[in-house]
Amino acid sequence: MEEKCVRCGGEAAYPIRALEVRTLHVRSIGGEKRVQALGDEKHGAVCEACARKQLALSLDPVRAAKPQLLTFGAVIAAGILIGAATLLFVKESRQVFLLLGIAALVCGGLGIYDALRKAKEKAAALRALPEAEALEEAAWDVYTAEVPKKEDVNDLTYIPVNEKTLRRKNGDLMVLYRLLPEIAVEAWKRLHAEEGTKGDETDDPPHRDV
Ligand SMILES: [Zn+2]
Repeated sequence: MEEKCVRCGGEAAYPIRALEVRTLHVRSIGGEKRVQALGDEKHGAVCEACARKQLALSLDPVRAAKPQLLTFGAVIAAGILIGAATLLFVKESRQVFLLLGIAALVCGGLGIYDALRKAKEKAAALRALPEAEALEEAAWDVYTAEVPKKEDVNDLTYIPVNEKTLRRKNGDLMVLYRLLPEIAVEAWKRLHAEEGTKGDETDDPPHRDV
């Protein structure tokens, strides 16, 4: 069973295995609560060209963050517009509208700052990796960008099933993939249960529990 590239249908170069996480956000008086469950394991692949293109994009923070920059830029423009319109046309309760405009400016500014910071951090982290590993990370980004992020009311996120993930403790999984504590434990068990049942794993540790 040969998987094709999830983005362009090209020849697979990076096989991907991903454990799906379903998160339901429940809003109540006490704040927001999350209900989480693990889904199926998904299989896919990404081709060499798409991985390389993604890596080049991620190494260029401004270009990588462009969609967010445009969005928050629009928020800033709206803030300026509200402010200008208020000063020109509104005679009463100006303060309310001006505050609204200022809020939009602050929100847009913070959004741009945060998007650029994240993109820069990501670029620096990728630059620190050997190219082969950076390409694997980029392939994962291509995969997660293409697969569904919602199913009904649930948010879908994905945990990469690879050696790097297998080496992580469940506390790390919890932080990295925003898992609830009990789901992180379950995910860890799921990931490691597969490790034992997989037939093509020849370099298993010598002691193996049955
Ligand atoms: Zn491709």
